[in-house]
Amino acid sequence: MSKRDYYEVLGLAKGASKDEIKKAYRKLSKQYHPDINKEPGADEKFKEIAEAYEVLSDDQKRARYDQFGHEDPQAGFGGGGFGGGGFGGFEDIFSSFFGGGRRQDPNAPRKGDDLQFRMTVDFEEAIFGKETEIEIPQEEECGTCNGTGAKPGTTPQTCSHCNGSGEINQAVDTPFGRMVNRRTCPSCRGAGKIIVDKCPTCRGAGKVQKTKKIKINIPAGVDDGQQLRVSGQGEPGINGGPAGDLYIVFSVRNHELFERDGDDIYYELKLTFPQAALGDEIEVPTVHGKVKLKIPAGTQSGAQFRIKDKGVKNVHGYGMGHQYVIVKVVTPTKLTEKQKQLLRDFAELSGDIPEEQGSSLFDKIKKTFKGES
Ligand SMILES: [Zn+2]
Ligand SMILES: [Zn+2]
Repeated sequence: MSKRDYYEVLGLAKGASKDEIKKAYRKLSKQYHPDINKEPGADEKFKEIAEAYEVLSDDQKRARYDQFGHEDPQAGFGGGGFGGGGFGGFEDIFSSFFGGGRRQDPNAPRKGDDLQFRMTVDFEEAIFGKETEIEIPQEEECGTCNGTGAKPGTTPQTCSHCNGSGEINQAVDTPFGRMVNRRTCPSCRGAGKIIVDKCPTCRGAGKVQKTKKIKINIPAGVDDGQQLRVSGQGEPGINGGPAGDLYIVFSVRNHELFERDGDDIYYELKLTFPQAALGDEIEVPTVHGKVKLKIPAGTQSGAQFRIKDKGVKNVHGYGMGHQYVIVKVVTPTKLTEKQKQLLRDFAELSGDIPEEQGSSLFDKIKKTFKGES
């Protein structure tokens, strides 16, 4: 979506005076204010107007905008500058016309915070899933004070500084005139109440730390880094609001034989030179049990075989992964004299080393053959 011209947004001509800009902004921002205008898109429009005003009301920003438009080579203003760090300024302008932001009533019900829990599972548990129980630290409403934070028999007092609203009005003189900003009450920190005699169990917090046991199903096919949402098992709600959610993030342990890549599993198969050269039929381990695999004669190190459907069943139900077998031909390190002789004989018989490699082994064999050594 291309960005609209700031003058166009405010319905002004390029040379508009500061007064005209101010008037246009006041009129339009009232018209599209999200508290007044419930039409779809009004919110976006309101932001667009505020952004245009933020730039055009500032002499320096306006001059740069007139010169470069939205393509200002100097990053940090225009779209990004406003949407990012510049929001404080926006709130202040907002307050001057509407007498404060939309702060929530401190006594209104609120959803509890979400919790995150990291869980380490075994390689096979992640593949096949498992029903298990976890213990998570969790804040619970204090049973001694029923969450009020006040010592039993006493009640929290209404904050006299803010009369229980949790916020105070602050008048500030600005070039626009007198602005009234709302601030969180410093006496009660927004709670609207002050606890005189604190509950001895929770020391006034109204909550206590407990551990809670929760049954969960590790979904079959879950992979490292994926998460599971357990609805309603987060922090308790505030003022009777619903509890938050619990997010379980899985971390999958490595396996000594297998490596996983998405729904596929990789296995390194070590073969001796005779097995690779002559071919063989062997049993290969998979997470689903052993599977017979035919190794054709003349298999090279690095060759890859696929064992169909022996990987991981996709966690979202999209089919089945495979197991890939990667061959590694192992060179023997300890040889008896007889084995050495057999290999020399073999080398002599095959003799297929390219000439440009200048092989000393072959030189030696040739000499032995001619009886020179
Ligand atoms: Zn308590
Ligand atoms: Zn207060």
